[in-house]
Amino acid sequence: MRYFPLFLDLRDRLVVIVGGGTIAERKLALVAESGARLKVVAPTLTAALQAAREAGRLEHVPRQFEAHDLEGARLVIAATSDRVVNAGVARAAEQRGIIANVVDDLELSTGILPAIIDRSPIVVAVSTGGTAPVLARRIRAQLETVVDESLGRFAAFAAAWRSRIRTAIPDLSARRRFYDWLLDGPVAALVRHARPAAAAELIASELARYSHPSAASTQDKRCGSVALVGAGPGDPGLLTLKALRALQGADVVLHDRLVSHEVLLLARREADLIEVGKTGHGHSVAQQQIHQLMLEHALAGRRVVRLKGGDPFVFGRGGEELEFLRAHGIPYEVVPGVTAALACASYAGIPLTHRDHSGSVRLLTAHCRESLDTTDWRGLAAARETLAVYMGVAMLAQLRTELIRHGRDPATPIAFIENGSRPEQRVVVGTLAQIEQLAADHAVRSPALLIVGEVAGLATQLHWFGAPPESGAAVAARNAA
Ligand code: SAH
Repeated sequence: MRYFPLFLDLRDRLVVIVGGGTIAERKLALVAESGARLKVVAPTLTAALQAAREAGRLEHVPRQFEAHDLEGARLVIAATSDRVVNAGVARAAEQRGIIANVVDDLELSTGILPAIIDRSPIVVAVSTGGTAPVLARRIRAQLETVVDESLGRFAAFAAAWRSRIRTAIPDLSARRRFYDWLLDGPVAALVRHARPAAAAELIASELARYSHPSAASTQDKRCGSVALVGAGPGDPGLLTLKALRALQGADVVLHDRLVSHEVLLLARREADLIEVGKTGHGHSVAQQQIHQLMLEHALAGRRVVRLKGGDPFVFGRGGEELEFLRAHGIPYEVVPGVTAALACASYAGIPLTHRDHSGSVRLLTAHCRESLDTTDWRGLAAARETLAVYMGVAMLAQLRTELIRHGRDPATPIAFIENGSRPEQRVVVGTLAQIEQLAADHAVRSPALLIVGEVAGLATQLHWFGAPPESGAAVAARNAA
């Protein structure tokens, strides 16, 4: 190991930066996070550095570097484009025993700056020994995706309890077990869920149990949890970072049929993947059974991810599942996903609202007769309204009849988006009057989303993903040929 990693306490210590250009600007922003006193030696400054000087965030020495500028400094960063100047800085630093970092010059540097993941007080620093900064940045980016933003908050929380934990649990191995529980269990979840008061209450009551002699044995029972996670429409790139982290921490994944294979590949290797999917119409595993599975695995102490296509709260029965979990006292969280309406619209080039064409969007399902019977048709038939219809392929005739009867123009554009966001995506465009004919002629299959509204017509110009939109005219021509 050529470079020894070390974290410096720079608060109120002097750091000198030589150079006043954009590189100096970037290094200064980084070092400023440490609370150091900053001195910039440079004949001229960029506008941003000038602003920082005016705000009193740095001291400016407006001339070329001189060795005595380093008096009292802990660290110097040479960020000029002139190697002779940089070498002078390095020499002056060496004579005074000050660590010098010379930007992009390993030979002149006695210290190198790592790539940093800041979840203060937790900081992860990555170095490739200066050999491959690009690689270090890549590793940093990967770590950023897996290290939860709340980790810093949790570390600060744990630190505040440290001495009380030590007093309450003098035995070292019992204390280790307690820390495992703290990290994996409900306290960390509460901190993550921005509920510090509830977290404090829980940890206090757990610690209180240690003053009873029989308490330590009950400590080992672990309580599982369920995360209701939106998997998006298929393209794994549309997962949220939180969804990815949940998948990577899962013991069991209970997923719908609709969830794409590519998304499932991102689950932790050791996780059990159980399909409980629905196909759109018939339910292959009844909702009751899904509830039982969630309960069983959570009670066994597992981290369960209930993975649903799109967003769990949009036609996903997520609400019912939470009610069930709540009734059984199972801790849960919800991670939203990109719902089919948003994804299909984007990937088909259909802006859901548009200043010229549409001022509002409604998400509805035409899944069965009842879901359409209870609908406010007059509202749905209003012009300049975009309708995103889920599970719509079955009830098209009724949808068209009612919309037109309540005043929607039969020439209103519509688009079917089948397999939105997936490589096999198909978009079929036409008019409201032709709706069933289009679905039949183009053999539109589930999963497909129907968009009704003036904006649907824009797909013809704005499409960018997958095959270009098919239209009624194309089919007529193909049939004639
Ligand atoms: N919770 C899901 C919706 C579940 S209902 C969400 O938020 O997207 C299932 C319906 O969603 C399907 O019948 C279809 O209308 C729509 N759907 C889901 N994924 C889709 C996709 N990739 N392309 C087109 N429609 C999709």
